[in-house]
Amino acid sequence: MADRVRIVFLGGLGEIGRNCAVIEQDNRLLLLDCGLMFPEVDMPGIDLVLPDFTYLRDNADRIDACLLTHGHEDHVGALSFLLREVSFPIYGSALTLGLARNRIEESGLMERTSLNALVDGERRRIGPFDVEVIPVTHSVPHGFATAFYTPQGVILHSGDFKLDLTPVDDRRTDLARIGAIADEHGIRLLLSDSTNAEEAGSTKSERSVGGVLHDLFAERAGQRIITACFASHLHRIQQIADAALASGRTIATLGRSMGKNVALAREMGLLRIPDDRLVDIEKIGDFEAGDVCVISTGSQGEPMSALALMAAGENKWLKIGEGDVVILSSHAIPGNEYDVNKVIDGLYRLGADVIHSGIADVHVSGHAQQEELKTLLSVAKPEYFIPVHGEFRHLIHHSRLAMQMGVARANVLLAEDGDVVELTDGAVDFVTEVPAGFLYVDGIVGDVAHGVLRDRRVLGEEGVVVVVVTVDSRTGEVVSGPEIITRGWVYAPEAEGLLEEARQAVRDSLKESAAEGATDFETVRRHVRQAAGRFVNERTKRRPMIVPLVMEV
Ligand SMILES: [Zn+2]
Ligand SMILES: [Zn+2]
Repeated sequence: MADRVRIVFLGGLGEIGRNCAVIEQDNRLLLLDCGLMFPEVDMPGIDLVLPDFTYLRDNADRIDACLLTHGHEDHVGALSFLLREVSFPIYGSALTLGLARNRIEESGLMERTSLNALVDGERRRIGPFDVEVIPVTHSVPHGFATAFYTPQGVILHSGDFKLDLTPVDDRRTDLARIGAIADEHGIRLLLSDSTNAEEAGSTKSERSVGGVLHDLFAERAGQRIITACFASHLHRIQQIADAALASGRTIATLGRSMGKNVALAREMGLLRIPDDRLVDIEKIGDFEAGDVCVISTGSQGEPMSALALMAAGENKWLKIGEGDVVILSSHAIPGNEYDVNKVIDGLYRLGADVIHSGIADVHVSGHAQQEELKTLLSVAKPEYFIPVHGEFRHLIHHSRLAMQMGVARANVLLAEDGDVVELTDGAVDFVTEVPAGFLYVDGIVGDVAHGVLRDRRVLGEEGVVVVVVTVDSRTGEVVSGPEIITRGWVYAPEAEGLLEEARQAVRDSLKESAAEGATDFETVRRHVRQAAGRFVNERTKRRPMIVPLVMEV
C-alpha cells in the first residue's frame, strides 16, 4: 500500500482571494501559495484578510517550503505575515519571487526565508516532494501550473491560467506537457482555477488589447493620455508602452508599485522601454500634452491611489483637465465597483474623457472561461477533480463542467476552506477539517477579533448611546446623572426632549431596582442597559449600541 497524501485547503475555496493550500506527504508539508484577500463591504475598517494560520503554526516544524504559482497578491500577499511566525524557503519563477520579495523586504523578514528560482519545465525535489512547474498564461507573466509526483499518483494544480494562443511573450500554457504527463503517468487529481467557470466561450488573447490601445492612441493624437492598470500586469504595461512609443510619446509611471514593478521587469528583460523614452513623473510638465503617456496605479479606484487622487484634483504631479484622456485598462474586481465609478465620475467632472472596459475592449481577463477549462480537463483527463480559486458558485459551475467532460460524479469533490482531502490507494475523499476562518488585519494589528467587526457594523449602521450614571453603592440610588452621550443615533441638539425622556426612563428603572434592593454593580449596569435600550427601540425603532458607564460611590 502506497503512503497516503493529503491536501489541506486554507483559503481561496469559497472566495476570490487568500489562496493557500498545503500538500502533505511523508509527514512533511509543502505550502502552495500564501495570499491575501481585500476586504469586502461588510468588513468596515479592515485593510486585509489573511488565511487562518493556526494549522501552519501548529505544524511549523514540518513545513519544508512554500511554492508560489505566480506573483499576484492573492497568492503571495500573506507571506509577509506568516513569515513572522514560521520560517521556510520559498520557490517560484524569478519574476514571482521578485514580486513577492517587495512586501517581505518591506516587513524586514528576508532573513526568515530564502528565495529559490525555478525555470519553466523544471522538475525539482523539495524535501520529499517531487514537483514539476509548467508554464501557464495569466495576467502576470511567468505563472506556473504544478505537477506533484506523489506516492498516490500525479496531482496537477492549474494555478491561475488561461489558454492564450498568442500571448505577448509567446510563452503559451504548455498543454502538450500536461498531455504527456497524463499519457505517461495518468493524472490522479486535477485542481483547477474556477474564477471564470460561469463564463461561456473563451477569453480573448491579451494581444487583442494591444490593437485596441494602438487605435485609441492614434485617434487621440495631441491629447494627453493617462492609463491605469494593475502594476503586476507587465504584458498590459508593455502593450500600453508600445502604443505610446508608436505614437511618439514619452512615458512616465505614477504610483509606487508601478514604478517598482516597471524597474524590476526592465532589469529582468521582461519589459522593453528605451531609457530615453521613460522619464520621471516630475518631468512630465516639460512635455506637450500630445507627447505624453502616463501609466498609473489605481485601476481599482483604491481611495489613496494615484488615480483616485488625480480624480479628486489632488495629485501632486498631474492636474487633470479639459482634453485629457484616461484609459482604465482593467475590470473592477467585485466589491470595487463603487470606488471605480467614483473615480470615473471625478475624472469627467475635471473635464477628462474616460475610456473603460464598458466602452471599448481595453481589457481581457487572465482567467480561463468554460471552453478553456474544458480543454484543460480533456487534456489532463483526471480521475478525480476539485475546483479551486473561486466563490462557491464558481466552484459549482466548474464541477459541472468536469462531469460534462467525463469525470465521474462521485470523483468530483466540492471542497471548501478548511477541508482536508486524503488520497489513498482506493479513494480520494474528505477526512477531516482544520480552522480556516478569516484572519482580519487592521493597521499593523493582525487578528482583529470577529466581535470587533460586529461592533463596527452596529456602530456604522445604528450609532452609539452612552449612559453615564453614578449610584450609591449601598442603596443603589442615583447620586448623579444619568447623562446621555450619543453619536449617530439622533442629532443631540435637536433631540433634547428625547434625551430627557431617555434619562427619565433610566432613572425610573434604577429607582425600581433600588427599591427591590438590587444594588450590586452588575445588576445596576444591566438595568441601565435594558432601560436605555428599551426606550431607544420603542421611541425610535433603532438599535444603537448601548454602553452603560456606571460608577459607584
Ligand atoms: Zn488568483
Ligand atoms: Zn492571479
